[in-house]
Amino acid sequence: MDDIVVVGGGLAGVTAVETLRDEGHTGSIALVGAEAELPYERPQLSKEMLKGEAEFQVVHDRQWYADRDVRLLNGIAATALDLDAATVTLDNAEVLRFDGLLLATGAVPRVPDLPGASSAYLLRTVADARRLKDALTPGARVALVGGGWIGLEVAAAARAAGAEAVVLEMADLPLAGVLGPELAAYLADLHRSHGVDLRTGVTVEAIEEDGVRTSDGTVEADVVVLAVGAVPDTALASAAGLEVDGGIVVDERLRASDPRVFAAGDVALARHASLGPLRVEHWDNAIRQGRLAARSMLGQDVAYDWAPYFFTDQFDFSMEYVGHGSADDAVEVRGDRDAGEFVAYWLRDTPDGRQSVTAGMNVNVWDVNDRLRELIGRRVEPADLTDLR
Ligand SMILES: Cc1cc2nc3c(=O)[nH]c(=O)nc-3n(C[C@H](O)[C@H](O)[C@H](O)COP(=O)(O)OP(=O)(O)OC[C@H]3O[C@@H](n4cnc5c(N)ncnc54)[C@H](O)[C@@H]3O)c2cc1C
Repeated sequence: MDDIVVVGGGLAGVTAVETLRDEGHTGSIALVGAEAELPYERPQLSKEMLKGEAEFQVVHDRQWYADRDVRLLNGIAATALDLDAATVTLDNAEVLRFDGLLLATGAVPRVPDLPGASSAYLLRTVADARRLKDALTPGARVALVGGGWIGLEVAAAARAAGAEAVVLEMADLPLAGVLGPELAAYLADLHRSHGVDLRTGVTVEAIEEDGVRTSDGTVEADVVVLAVGAVPDTALASAAGLEVDGGIVVDERLRASDPRVFAAGDVALARHASLGPLRVEHWDNAIRQGRLAARSMLGQDVAYDWAPYFFTDQFDFSMEYVGHGSADDAVEVRGDRDAGEFVAYWLRDTPDGRQSVTAGMNVNVWDVNDRLRELIGRRVEPADLTDLR
């Protein structure tokens, strides 16, 4: 593959470019990114940036791309992919020919089909974060539609800014599907103890001028934020006829249904070596899949086989999670829950009557995540589990 085009200037795209050069690719590389900014990190947007503690962070400065002879086309969108001609057309009318193409187009916030939804704040980009930060003023009434990771992080940032925060969550507990009922209740209590008005079992019916109309009446708000998940940006891939099924379908080596095309990051529905098809919307996955896609494009024998990982920071709850647990797994907690320093294990029964670890989470206990990762898939005796300190 002499000429490689990467569409999507997020973390997956830029990591792939970096790996291509590190692994010795000497052909041309073009990185096309629709956003005006140089590729940057998104996790800060809902944390340090909203709280005014830091500006956003670019992955590399402009010189870095020049030093590696990477053609950086930022502020430019790819509008069409022609697989027969092996070209990508850009919105400045330029046409890029490729031998290998990586689609790392990420995801966009889900906008529910509700009256008034278009007037609400979203959070995905630096521009979104700047606009939302300006709205999080002391005393502002902020309503978060959705109690997922982003909704809860924004609630924490709103409280830090002295705003009032109401979280409207449809389920009975926030994030119960990931954490299970016990730890979801822990997180709910944490938010309530910091003054977040967390309302569960609530259906949002409309976004109105003075707030949110719900199944429980109207919640008055000055700022309404939609945080109901993200949808993979598969537009280019679908229009080109690539296989798409709630994400660009790729194999263990991140190859799409056309062998010259690869996908990585939030947009990829990738076949995991042991977990099957998986689409992961996390920072670590964008980096690892960016690396993997690059090495795969260079013909290396690599496979998508690592345990998923993510982290969050909300109030004094800072955690790392590794693995792929389910809400049906048993959860064992070790350490000091009341002090907010503990390790949780997700355990699943095995056919031989024992239990194996599907996931682990360290909360305010540091430098243990690699050890947790080593336990994923291992059979354990619950009595032997500790908080790893
Ligand atoms: C506010 C926020 C907070 C987060 N916090 C955490 C966290 O604490 N922990 C964690 O693990 N994960 C977190 N994440 C998730 C993590 O940031 C994402 O998983 C990661 O950024 C995905 O990277 P990506 O490169 O796949 O996609 P993206 O970052 O979405 O990048 C894709 C890029 O492609 C561009 N693009 C799309 N279509 C085109 C086109 N046709 N032409 C050109 N460019 C195109 C887009 O504009 C975008 O810039 C957070 C995400 C957000 C939004």
